[in-house]
Amino acid sequence: MEIKELPLRKCVGCNKMFPKNQLFRVVRLDGDVRVDLSYKAQGRGAYVCRNEACLALAEKKKGFNRALKTAVSPEVISNLYMELENGSR
Ligand SMILES: [Zn+2]
Repeated sequence: MEIKELPLRKCVGCNKMFPKNQLFRVVRLDGDVRVDLSYKAQGRGAYVCRNEACLALAEKKKGFNRALKTAVSPEVISNLYMELENGSR
């Protein structure tokens, strides 16, 4: 199995660095914020661990708002919870 070096990204919940494939990516492009499961969407990205604790922290601390420098709608957060429940990887 090929082992690739993955770039590290910071979780906006716990503020720790992880390989980005362990995190959800949220991307902002032209004022539109959405979940980017492909990691390939253009725009400014913010990352959060794939667990409820970090999602809750990110929500509470408004980590996405700060990382993306824009107001992130609760819908984006609930989409992340949905992805978590779906077990998307
Ligand atoms: Zn985290």
